[in-house]
Amino acid sequence: MTASKAESITPIESLESQLVTRLSNTLESYLDAPHIAQCLRAYEFGASAHKGQFRKSGEPYICHPIAVAISLAEIRMDADGITAAILHDVVEDTQISKQEIAMQFNDEVAELVDGVTKLSKIENQSHAQAQAENVRKMFLAMAKDLRVIIVKLADRLHNMETLGVMQPPKKRRIAKETLDIYAPIANRLGMNSIRHKLERLSFEAMYPYRYAVLNHAIKKARGNRRKIIDTIENTIRARLEQASFPCEVVGREKNIYSIYKKMVKKKIPLADVFDVYAFRIYCDDVDGCYRILGMMHNLYKPVPGRFKDYIALPKENGYQSLHSVLIGPYGVPIEVQIRTHEMHRMSESGIAAHWLYKSETDTDKTRNFQALANEWLKDLLEIQKSAGDSLEFIDNLKVDLFPQEVFVFTPNGSIIKLPRGSTIVDFAYAVHTDLGNACVSARIDKQLIPLQTQLESGVTVEIITAEHARPNPLWLNYVVTARARTAIRNRLKHIEEKEALGLGRRLLENELLALNVQLADIDEERIATLLKMMGLKSFDKLLEDIGLGNKMPLLVAKQLTQADVNTHVKLDDDSSKSQNRPLMIKGTEGMVVTLAKCCRPIPGDAIIGFFNPGKGIVVHQHDCHNHALIKKKNNSWLDVAWGDDAKGDFQTEIRIQILNQRGSLATVAATISNLDSNIENVTVVDQDARICTDSIILTAQNRVHLAQIMRRLKELSIVLKITRVKG
Ligand code: MN
Repeated sequence: MTASKAESITPIESLESQLVTRLSNTLESYLDAPHIAQCLRAYEFGASAHKGQFRKSGEPYICHPIAVAISLAEIRMDADGITAAILHDVVEDTQISKQEIAMQFNDEVAELVDGVTKLSKIENQSHAQAQAENVRKMFLAMAKDLRVIIVKLADRLHNMETLGVMQPPKKRRIAKETLDIYAPIANRLGMNSIRHKLERLSFEAMYPYRYAVLNHAIKKARGNRRKIIDTIENTIRARLEQASFPCEVVGREKNIYSIYKKMVKKKIPLADVFDVYAFRIYCDDVDGCYRILGMMHNLYKPVPGRFKDYIALPKENGYQSLHSVLIGPYGVPIEVQIRTHEMHRMSESGIAAHWLYKSETDTDKTRNFQALANEWLKDLLEIQKSAGDSLEFIDNLKVDLFPQEVFVFTPNGSIIKLPRGSTIVDFAYAVHTDLGNACVSARIDKQLIPLQTQLESGVTVEIITAEHARPNPLWLNYVVTARARTAIRNRLKHIEEKEALGLGRRLLENELLALNVQLADIDEERIATLLKMMGLKSFDKLLEDIGLGNKMPLLVAKQLTQADVNTHVKLDDDSSKSQNRPLMIKGTEGMVVTLAKCCRPIPGDAIIGFFNPGKGIVVHQHDCHNHALIKKKNNSWLDVAWGDDAKGDFQTEIRIQILNQRGSLATVAATISNLDSNIENVTVVDQDARICTDSIILTAQNRVHLAQIMRRLKELSIVLKITRVKG
């Protein structure tokens, strides 16, 4: 058997092994052996993870990530980036976890794969057209590493290239998403090469007929013009060679999607768009660009007014080149673009240009997204500096690359944009005021999380509400949006007014009862006169004022019942109160009845209420140590008693002296919780080597419950002394 025969019977290589060969050949051109080994190990790992999975087209699934990796190797992505590209669908589509990737490879690869997985999850949600802008911003906000976005773009590019077998409606949907989200991101990052590919493929998928017609027409036009193009190209080349100038000349083909867009926008036929012969000339330095321009103007006559110097005055996105239109042979217009290789790389690869071409020397510095983005911005600024142009583009870019906002989803897939640092409460109020007012907790990715949790871009937030929920004044400490703040304040004010109204009515009725009068019996004229005298708009306002402690109920009752309302009624001394029925409270009234923090009364305690102007009633223990002081300062006290409905867990404070030894406090805590009480807070008041005094705030249902707890604590050998705190 001859050698040539042996070759001819070699089995046709599978697509998979063809791709792997191509990948490793490409990697060999710029990576060292250990790094190549890592990438190939990723291939083996990925192939076994995706084993048994196939793409719609029938080939093994692993072909897709390998193809993605190849396109990234072609732009010289580093080994970790390539590894992540090969594994990019592993977490999403197989049993492999992020931790396992970190173990098998390294943390960086795991983070990259995780980043791509997160973007893929977002991609799978349905998006309203109007949200495209927010989705793009969300993508950029989520990608902490530039490589995540670039892997995602390469992933999308390969998916677009292999749309073939899909149903047309699905194709159209994916193509539209590509045009709405991915192409603009590539554009934003200055990556024009990938952007044009994405646009062409999307155009083809969305309008296959238009694409075919236009493509055919362009090819035909090109064919017809081939001879002229060759002639011009050769003439230009000869002229440059004659001057022995090192440069490269290429005939430039206009992008089919931009031709289409131009035709639609300007409503003109193809011939009018496709009217020029375009060439591009690359050289090594700026000086060369101008010298070539001189030679071109010398070779063909320039069309006046068509010369544009984007080197001295770059476009806002940093694009640099010299453009000129010349009159060629037979009078055909020729468009030339002259630029350096470096300028070309910048315009094709944008933000990636740094890591693609500059990072070979210092790879570590440029890996991080922020660093790269910063460098790119610096470049753009540098380019723009000479132009002294408006920096609006760069400002917008900064906003996109270093977002001050987070983007999160509602359960139905709408995106809510919030300032950085926003919490669940901000989110709830951003969706709807009612949702904010009723929220009690939330779930992110099915996990319950506290309301003060700060949001991260890309998560889906589900608010849990309760029917009688109300905003907590503590929320004001951590919300960041004005909307939430205002809504919480309004709501609290509204609740307070409602509660004050109810309490005011009860207080007034109580006082009237002592005078043997029903509120309903008082005639309206009398009420109107009193309101006028007090300068109040309505009776409700008066009741509210009473409830808030701004007006004494006894005084109002007398003014309403005595003959002359103008009579100044002096507050009676304490004895008059004894005729009154005490106001029954349950301790959980809300904002206008509060239990004093100094003595923390609980049901069963003898109590007394004090009006606190503007705030309602504060309830103290009758023998609160602050009592005398308060009474002296504030003679507007009120007889109150616990109602039968005063049930629940009330906070109260005890002080306990225990032996300062290991486990003492734990024993105390266990004893307390065994008796159905919760410890809310423990503070050390005093301690020496032997004895420790702690203040404990705990819950008790009533005096009996508390007595039981204290008795049980006293029985402990480590407890020396125990007292209840009363102010
Ligand atoms: Mn993929």
